[in-house]
Amino acid sequence: MKQLIIAIDGPAGAGKSTVAKLTAQKLNYNYIDTGAMYRAVAWRALDEKAELSDQAIAALARDLDLQLDYINGTTKVTVAGQDITEAIRTPEVSRLVPKVAQVGEIRKIMLELQRNMAKSGGVVMDGRDIGTHVLPDADIKIFLTASIAERAKRRWLELTEKGYTINLAELETEIAARDKEDSERELAPLIAAPDAVNIDTTQLSIDEAVTKILALARRD
Ligand code: C5P
Repeated sequence: MKQLIIAIDGPAGAGKSTVAKLTAQKLNYNYIDTGAMYRAVAWRALDEKAELSDQAIAALARDLDLQLDYINGTTKVTVAGQDITEAIRTPEVSRLVPKVAQVGEIRKIMLELQRNMAKSGGVVMDGRDIGTHVLPDADIKIFLTASIAERAKRRWLELTEKGYTINLAELETEIAARDKEDSERELAPLIAAPDAVNIDTTQLSIDEAVTKILALARRD
């Protein structure tokens, strides 16, 4: 069977990574979390207490010895051999990452890495610009959305389970701000590709979303 390239884009909290991971597992494909790559750059900038100018962050991204290993349904993220899988999910990193993701040189570095990772097919890649910029020839493009209230509720549950005390209304404001930054930026903004299939997960379970994507994959 043909090894497809599946691109899944959408805003934070729409369920992209869970849906993408499950789809990859069902098809026995690799899963690439491109958000984790931008997060790794932001983490590095915070960890090194680096100056937060575009040039300084781009220099960090250039030398980032980044590795993503998708094993048994989990993506292990390492930078220079250090496991940062959990460290890239803190609210501090989430707040800084859209700034990092707006830097043209960083996007260029990531785009090249991402295309390289997908070149042999059999891959599900999720992010914000995969169907529009990174893999415009992907076999299947999905744009996954959900209402802001639903997305904030999901993030709140996720962070609360990890032990963070966070206010739901504040989270809703933060998610709306991140959406705005990601959608209105000049370079590779968050937008559905014209040929993407829209899936709204506000009222849809993860399994239902995965089933829809698998049906598209089996038809291709
Ligand atoms: O998917 P996740 O929420 O982990 O992504 C973190 C951030 O990385 C996004 O808010 C966005 O600013 C950036 N990003 C991006 N392009 C991608 C993936 C993520 O700009 N392909």
